[in-house]
Amino acid sequence: MLDKKVALNVLLNVINLYPRYHERREPFYVLISTVLSQRTRDANTDEASRALFEKFPTAYELSRAEKKDVEKLIKPAGMYKQKAERIIEIAKEIVEKYKGKVPSDLKSLLTLKGVGRKTANIVLAVSFNIPAIAVDVHVHRITNRMGIVKTKKPEETEVELMKILPKKYWTKLNGALVNFGQQICTPRNPKCAECMFREVCEYGRRNASEVSGDGA
Ligand code: SF4
Repeated sequence: MLDKKVALNVLLNVINLYPRYHERREPFYVLISTVLSQRTRDANTDEASRALFEKFPTAYELSRAEKKDVEKLIKPAGMYKQKAERIIEIAKEIVEKYKGKVPSDLKSLLTLKGVGRKTANIVLAVSFNIPAIAVDVHVHRITNRMGIVKTKKPEETEVELMKILPKKYWTKLNGALVNFGQQICTPRNPKCAECMFREVCEYGRRNASEVSGDGA
């Protein structure tokens, strides 16, 4: 496990060096595109979100959409039948319970069907600039690999990261680790040889010693 100061330093470096800029920050767009992003690549999410929002830009419109029309538009995002059902349901709930506006607090967001902590925290951080750490597969994998946390579940990772990172950086962490996870610390075959954190990262050091024979 990394020393807390070292862990903080690594996280701040990732935030500075791999910042993520969000083209769109409207709450309904961020919420729906995050649901669409599950188990697919960014390019597919973008394509599906663009097509969907051209036709159904608001919760009111999406709540009244035909499922088959939505399925067609979001097909590039994969699992389009389940996703279409889920996003129409979410739009209906937003219209019925929140007068068509996405709520800006965690508790309300979590009441929306199919919205978990990750999605809710992304909406809070990106759309409302409210301090929240969204832990997705990248954040969970990288912070455990490095030895910043030692956790089994994303919810535990969120709690541990909140203890290490000052609140003012929370909104930026997810995007930066997603970028870093796509470019360097990839799910399979991470590029440890070109990674600036290999000296401190537990996984990187273990790999290096195995290659050199030191770890035998
Ligand atoms: S050294 Fe390897 S495992 Fe560690 S953060 Fe860098 S790429 Fe990821």
